[in-house]
Amino acid sequence: MLAFDNITCMKKLLLSFLILLLFKLSFVPVFAEMVMFNTQTLKYHKLGCQWAKKCTVNCIKIDKKEAIRRGGVPCKICG
Ligand SMILES: [Zn+2]
Repeated sequence: MLAFDNITCMKKLLLSFLILLLFKLSFVPVFAEMVMFNTQTLKYHKLGCQWAKKCTVNCIKIDKKEAIRRGGVPCKICG
């Protein structure tokens, strides 16, 4: 009886872990949007933007929130 209870408990634990994992996976991309941030002009681009691809010297790939925190402004084309 005790062993059965343990298995049920384990299943519940595993299930909640899976739900947590799914929750994390579906929400992380929303919170962590990566952008190409130009540290010189303080403009940030979406990774697919043509300017993001051209920017190789002063650009760093960081979180969008971090770019804004550093005083970044969105690109006129992709932002
Ligand atoms: Zn852009």
